[in-house]
Amino acid sequence: MSKRKAFIGGNWKMNLHRAEACALAQAVSAGCTKADGAEVAVFPAFPYLLEVGAVLKANPRNHVKLGAQDFYFQPNGAFTGEVSLSMLKDVGVQVVLAGHSERRHVLGECDVLINAKVRAALAAGFEVILCVGEKLEQRDLGQTDAINCAQTAYGLAGVKTEQMKSVTIAYEPVWAIGTGKNATPQDAQAAHLAIRQALTAQFGAAVAGATRIQYGGSVKPSNAKELFAQPDIDGGLIGGASLKAEDFLGIVNAAGH
Ligand code: PGA
Repeated sequence: MSKRKAFIGGNWKMNLHRAEACALAQAVSAGCTKADGAEVAVFPAFPYLLEVGAVLKANPRNHVKLGAQDFYFQPNGAFTGEVSLSMLKDVGVQVVLAGHSERRHVLGECDVLINAKVRAALAAGFEVILCVGEKLEQRDLGQTDAINCAQTAYGLAGVKTEQMKSVTIAYEPVWAIGTGKNATPQDAQAAHLAIRQALTAQFGAAVAGATRIQYGGSVKPSNAKELFAQPDIDGGLIGGASLKAEDFLGIVNAAGH
């Protein structure tokens, strides 16, 4: 494990209703009470943010951050269906996702929008997890590093060096998300290293060395340890396995909690 503190995110996506979300938050919070271990955040669906936040706060030893899966970059106005950063701040959200592959490839978000979101969230004082990752056909064409480095550079365009302490990158190969297939630890490590080199080119070696890069895509308790042992893998962004407390806590423990 590198000297960067591991960061594990539980991306619940469009899953879990109110009672299930609260029960899971309670179990995760109860299982993650050591301040010196990995950092942990959960990302519930919008309607349950306030209540999940209250569940987390009710534990006096809580170390789990409240995250939001999405937001819009404009401060307010006629944007039907969207949620602003100040609304998220109002309900206690500390960290947000931007550029998740489902938002890129299912909902059609482009790099220009993702970059506007990243800059707005940082300006509003949030931590940001910028997700990048290649599709299978891009991997087959040998474009893995080019795609990841371009998505990283576009996503972070205009971000100031001093804001980078609030940025985490999540490398999530699209073909590995929710499919049960994960990159080998060696392939993931190679992709992480290339992303770190892109960060070095954009922000310098000190910032690149301090920025956490999570791996995401079918992480499970059984494969987490080997992935997180790679020198450039600093934790994970977890989808399916974050929906069961036992599995998620197993992954948190694999990160050295
Ligand atoms: P998965 O999802 O763990 O279900 O593959 C990861 C993610 O999309 O963040």
